[in-house]
Parts: sequence; C-alpha cells; structure tokens
Amino acid sequence: MQYISTRNNFRPVSAAEAINLGMVPAGGLFVPESFPQFSREELTELVESSYQELGAAILERYLTDYSREEIRTCLQRAYNASSFAHPEMAPVVSLAEDIHILELWHGPTAAFKDMALQLLPHLLVTARHKLGASRELVILVATSGDTGKAALEGFKDVPGIRIMVFYPQGGVSQVQERQMLTTGGQNTRVVAVTGNFDDCQNGVKAIFADADLRNYLADRGFELSSANSINWGRLVPQIIYYFSAYLQLVRRGRIVLGDEVNVVVPTGNFGNILAAWYARRMGLPLGKLICASNENNVLTDFFRNGTYDRRRQFKLTNSPSMDILISSNLERFLYDLTGGDGEKITLWFNQLAETGHYTVDEQTRQAIAEVLWAGWCDQEDTLKTIGEVFDRYHYTLDTHTAVAYKVYQDFLQASGDKRPAVIAATASPFKFVSSVLSALVSAGDREGLDEFEQLNMLSRISGLPLHPGLAGLKEKEVRHNWQAGKTELKSQLLCWLGL
Ligand SMILES: *Cc1c(COP(=O)(O)O)cnc(C)c1O
Repeated sequence: MQYISTRNNFRPVSAAEAINLGMVPAGGLFVPESFPQFSREELTELVESSYQELGAAILERYLTDYSREEIRTCLQRAYNASSFAHPEMAPVVSLAEDIHILELWHGPTAAFKDMALQLLPHLLVTARHKLGASRELVILVATSGDTGKAALEGFKDVPGIRIMVFYPQGGVSQVQERQMLTTGGQNTRVVAVTGNFDDCQNGVKAIFADADLRNYLADRGFELSSANSINWGRLVPQIIYYFSAYLQLVRRGRIVLGDEVNVVVPTGNFGNILAAWYARRMGLPLGKLICASNENNVLTDFFRNGTYDRRRQFKLTNSPSMDILISSNLERFLYDLTGGDGEKITLWFNQLAETGHYTVDEQTRQAIAEVLWAGWCDQEDTLKTIGEVFDRYHYTLDTHTAVAYKVYQDFLQASGDKRPAVIAATASPFKFVSSVLSALVSAGDREGLDEFEQLNMLSRISGLPLHPGLAGLKEKEVRHNWQAGKTELKSQLLCWLGL
C-alpha cells in the first residue's frame, strides 16, 4: 500500500515514510491510494476476535511494509490491561434497543485521544527503525489540556523518543494540570508557560520554523517532530474501534451482520469521524455519519450550505476539545468525495489559507449529503442533555458526548431514520467534572469543593468508580516543576537536551 498526497504534490510513499513525515512537506495530507475491502465472510470470521486481533487484520492491509510480527508487537504494547481499564478497550454500552454508546475513554487519560496516542509512538518508532533514522526524536506539544497528557502517556518511556509539553499556567483545569505534572517516565518533561495557549503554540511553531536550530540539533543527534492529529499513524488506529463496535453489536445479537448502523461523532478536527468514513469505505455496513459540533459550528454551516468560512468569532465552550475553527482532516474527506481530485483540493485549501473561506461545487455537496448529516448544540442544551440522559437511563455523559447525543435527537426528528445508532463517547464524564456536575446537582451542593472533591462527588452520584487515570491525583507526587516565560521555550528545550 502506498500513500499519496491530497494535493498531487508528492511522490507516493510507504506507510513508514508517511508516518515518519507526518504531513506532506509542501502542504497536503497523506491518504492511502486505495481502501482494503472486508467482505461479509471476512467480517463474520472476525466477530469473535479480540481488539488486538481485529487491529492486526486492519493494520496488516494498510501498513504493508510492516511485518506481521511488528504490527502485533505494536498492538500488544498499545492495547493491554495496564493501559486500558476495560478488556474490550472500547466497549459498547446499549442505552436502548437502538441507541448504543461507544466508550472511547477507558485509556490512561480518560479521553479518546488515547485510542490513537497509545499506538502511534510504537508505529513511529518501528517506522524510524525501518527507515534507518538514527537521531533521537524530540516531540514538542503545545496543549490547552487534553492532548498534552494523552501524548505524554503514549510516548512515556518509548525508546529513541523524548517528549516535551508546554501548557499555559493557570489556563488548564486543576485536574488537567495535575495529570500532566505527575507524569512518570525518563523521557518526559512538562513546562508551565506564563502566557496563554496561543503563546505556547506560537513558541512551539517558532521552534519548528527555526532552520538554524534544526541544523544545530541535527548535528547533535536530535530531530524535532509533533504528534498532531493529521499523522496517518494517528488516524489508522481509529478505524479499528468502528469495526470493533459493529462486531460487538453483532456478537450480542443487537444487529445481524449486514444491518446498517448510523454513527454519531462529536467533532473537532474531523479525525474521529473520518475514521468512521474510512471504515465504511472498507465495507463495514455503516449508514449515515452524523457530524456533531458545538457553538464553533463551522462544519455544520459547511455541510449545510457548501461554504467553509472560518472568519467568525472563536468561542470557548463547555466542550473545549471541540473548540476548533479549522478541521484539518476534512481535507482527506473532500479528497475522497471529489473522486481524488487533487487540483480542486489544492484550490480550496489555498483559498482557505489566503482568504479564510472556500465553496465546494454542487456535485461534491450532493456526494456529501448522501453520507453525512450535520448539526450543532449550544452549551445550555449540552448541560440539559446530560441531565435528561441521566434521568432517563441513569447513564452519565460528558459534555462532548452530550453534544453528539443532542444532535442525534435532532437528526431523528429531521430524518425519521430508523436504523440503530452508535454514538462515540469521547471523554469520561470525570474528565470534565465541573460542567457535568453542574448539570446534575445545584450550585449550592457544589459550593466550595475543589475539582478533586468534585470527582468524588460525581462518583457517588453517578455510581461509577472514579476513572483510574484520575484516581489519587491529589496525593500523587509532582514530578515536573518547570516554568518558562513565553519567550523562553527554546532555551528550556536546549537546557533539557543538555546543549
Ligand atoms: C479531540 C476530541 C474531540 C474531537 O475529535 P476530532 O477527531 O478532532 O474530531 C472530541 N471530544 C474529545 C473529548 C476530544 O478530546
């Protein structure tokens, strides 16, 4: 299997090269040149497979330059009982006959980014080994909270790699900060920056753009990289859980193999829902893909009227991991739906970069409408939905999943579609404890409680055991105590590398 650029501007590369490069150097994203197909018979044979076995069946067809042994080793290291608190890794919970929740938050940091970030580091190390890359890789991450911890847990103690995370001091929640600062591992460093998230991101971008620094580091055996969500090595792991969810429903007799299932995804950068699209392309019987956004509803507008327009106010919401105005992975989806028209993609994404908007043609719009439905949910309805679902099913949604649930209700109203649905639950309710509790108890009951006490309160109310990644956080040893001004990121890096 070769990987080609969505903008026709690069030679075809192997999976190892695509994963090592991250994105196409001249702009554009790597996509597989074709989609491996799973027939009904092959799906039937996989019904009883474990998550790792299923993963191997899928990855073998995409990472054809990896040996069977390498793929199995990567999967074993990523998905096991010490990192995931559930034997299914991503279990499906049925709320009703036709509404199923795919829990993607049983990994070490309680959010769905773990599903990909537990595997990516192993795929990356294996890729570099194959390509003969000998320098130590230094991953730099600017985080507003969640990605930082998921990346730290994924790269922790992976040989040949170090990871350095910058976060805005006072700009993340108490729980998020404590999660990061208590990270173990010999190859991790977490730095609090006196500034906001943009300062962190700009600082990291400046380091990446500094050619002299890169040369200096290269001469001393280091290479810089990021772990962002456009890497093929972060996308391909996400296909596995859609197969797993579907086959779990078959195994439990909720559906018969071949029945179509709709999928609802709370969406930010469009990675998660793109993986569902890829699963569908591979022959998994999925119906409509329902794209759920929060008040940053640039995608809803795009899917409804064909114009992507980022020129709007950015909003901070109670589903912060979806606060995004540029959904990078949308480029891969459009590439597919235009039949692989790299010229159109180049035109649109150049327009986006230059003017902040672009409009797709009618044919593309119609192709999208066949497979995708989009909606959005405001903050008030998000909380209301958490309360309603709790009252009705005694099931606790986090804010992101609540957005998806509400948009799914709107979809049912609008379409009358009777097919069963799987809703992707992207975070444990404990991860966004303050918002979730505010939907379930009165302000008076929460008054004066810090976030750690709120975790215990949510555990009592929901009847859920505290997520292991969040338990005992307050008592855990703080292992990182580094601070930097917003102009000092580079010196922090050099200091850590001993240069
Ligand atoms: C990252 C994230 C999302 C958005 O996923 P995309 O793949 O970027 O669309 C949704 N919910 C949570 C909790 C997340 O962390």
